[in-house]
Amino acid sequence: MVRKIGVLTSGGDAPGMNTAIRSVTRVALNNGIEVYGIYDGYRGLLEGRFMKMERSSVSETLNRGGTILGSARLPEFRELDVQEKCVETLKENGIDALVVIGGDGSYRGALALTRLGINCIGLPGTIDNDIPGTDFTIGFDTALNTCVECVDKLRDTSSSHHRCSIVEVMGNHCGDLALYTAISCGAEMVITPETGYDELEVLEKLRYLDQAIHKNHAIVIVSEKTTDIQALAKKISLNTGFSGRATVLGHIQRGGAPSPTDRMLASRMGEKAVDLLTEGIGGQCVGIIDNEISSMSIEDALERPRSSRKHLYRLFDRLV
Ligand code: ATP
Repeated sequence: MVRKIGVLTSGGDAPGMNTAIRSVTRVALNNGIEVYGIYDGYRGLLEGRFMKMERSSVSETLNRGGTILGSARLPEFRELDVQEKCVETLKENGIDALVVIGGDGSYRGALALTRLGINCIGLPGTIDNDIPGTDFTIGFDTALNTCVECVDKLRDTSSSHHRCSIVEVMGNHCGDLALYTAISCGAEMVITPETGYDELEVLEKLRYLDQAIHKNHAIVIVSEKTTDIQALAKKISLNTGFSGRATVLGHIQRGGAPSPTDRMLASRMGEKAVDLLTEGIGGQCVGIIDNEISSMSIEDALERPRSSRKHLYRLFDRLV
């Protein structure tokens, strides 16, 4: 029977992590399970930095961005002796099971601990929406709202000056944030790892929009790590009728109060994690698939291809 569980956040932070911590804490306490917050991900676990969570420890946190527990990376956690030391620390403190909120690297850590006898459940926390086993991650919707708000503002000023705004958004090799932003903002072009990047095609399309369609502005949404948008902006100014301006949205996308959609998602996923641990299940990750909260083994999730976004790329093309 599970009597004490730990909760930690690991990898990059995301809005909604606090809501997930709150959900895990409150649902567990209401089930008679003690909860320990672990500071700074696996680093705090290794160093034994725990905090006993009361109901009030998570008061007024559900609407706060970031993570009250802090997050960190601990590359050494890939080593068996470090993992074993963490298991020892957990056992010394009577902690039977763990909820790990983070990305796929954090999931691998959770799987390793489960194999060593501490049941762990992974919750997907990242704005990048790049975690397998779920349609959406905690933080994605909030980041999307931030991107849409920023791009809407850029469009106002672009149209006054016959500009082409090239906007770089995050995503870490996943084009979802760019694609959803592009559709939501009515962008003229979207460049992601899935679309690939062809500079000549971009310039050609912009010349067409300028000369044939007589558009007075254009918005190009680009996924980070796809191309150098400062260089692209210069080429646009030189080779098309638009004046190119590059904007990197940067870490602003990672902050802010979680959206209601992320609050709902994090609350539902936190509940599911506690229910799984209560049933004695570990080594699983929680996801939302076709709007239903579900879970699958972390091993299966890590091997699964992400669901296709082909229909959304097609939609984007049909809306331009
Ligand atoms: P993000 O989406 O921000 O990249 P992430 O969870 O994937 O989140 P990582 O830096 O890859 O971020 O992993 C976070 C932590 O998880 C690492 O610092 C390390 O402690 C642990 N971790 C990563 N990969 C492994 C692994 N293969 N085995 C055990 N632990 C791992």
